[in-house]
Amino acid sequence: MVEHYFGKPIDAAKLKEPLLANLGEQAKTYQAQVEDLLKRYKLQRVNCFLCGSDDTSRVEFTVNGISYVRCPVCDLVHVSHKLPDEALYEYYKKGANYAEAYANSQYIYRLDHVARPKVKFIDKYVTANKKGKKLWLDVGSGIGDMLVASQDLGYTAIGLEISEDSINFGRDRLGCDLRNQTLEQFAESRPSDKFSAVSFMGYLDLVSNPMEELARAAKLLRPGGVVGVSVPHFNSFSRAVQQTFPKQSTRGFFLINALMQYTEKAILYAFKNNGFEPVAFWWFGLDAMELINNLTLACPGFRGSPMAKMLWENCNDIQQVFDNKKACDNMLAVARKV
Ligand SMILES: [Zn+2]
Repeated sequence: MVEHYFGKPIDAAKLKEPLLANLGEQAKTYQAQVEDLLKRYKLQRVNCFLCGSDDTSRVEFTVNGISYVRCPVCDLVHVSHKLPDEALYEYYKKGANYAEAYANSQYIYRLDHVARPKVKFIDKYVTANKKGKKLWLDVGSGIGDMLVASQDLGYTAIGLEISEDSINFGRDRLGCDLRNQTLEQFAESRPSDKFSAVSFMGYLDLVSNPMEELARAAKLLRPGGVVGVSVPHFNSFSRAVQQTFPKQSTRGFFLINALMQYTEKAILYAFKNNGFEPVAFWWFGLDAMELINNLTLACPGFRGSPMAKMLWENCNDIQQVFDNKKACDNMLAVARKV
């Protein structure tokens, strides 16, 4: 029996304050970084990242020449073209713009309101090993807030991250065991202990080999261990907003930040084919904020207007409507190694 939970109130403005402060500028910087990568790397046509299907005929929408297609086999929605893996690696290793969103002064708020609730949710499904020891591995850790949150619940936690800015911030400010390694490199080092939990928060949508990464997680987990996966959800109000204002969605967004978006069916496919059984889903998102952001960019008089004020005031209630209908832009799924 798979459990479903809906909704997570959040002070969205506080969470993304540095980004919200200058939305237009942020989009420009981002686009410039991607244009630079496009000068040096050639776009590649891609097959489905989960099942390998080459049927890209079901186009959901197109922005600046990049299409989102829905896989007829596993239901994953993915880009039609991508930058080569070296370019993505370079972006995440050096991309200060990316790290900035996380390694800023809001990290205490993020820790308490994003990482802690997620860890608590996953922890409900974890059982300690015979020695009563609980080990947590977080992949694509950023500054390591998932590590702090899991340590506070009694775990020994290790995080893997390749962004140098994030690693430095997490090690210095939070004292985390952050390692400058990919999951592949970490798995090759053959760690002696098996993990109770492996988490991928906003990670399996950014790498071109999500199935390999899940298979590695399965090998590193002890029997009965769980994997926690937070991914963007395609069948959401945010996607409807982006489709309505396609010019405001930069091409960079699709080429870097959104290689693929999952549906419930797609993540279940990924679990099943890597020896995992789903146990719980948590549906929540920032769709109401996506609407406000797009209105801010599209309408010159919107910022500071009575309409904006009322939308902000009711942001969480509006969001709850989409969460309840599984029409939110994020899902956190937990599955157990069979
Ligand atoms: Zn597929």
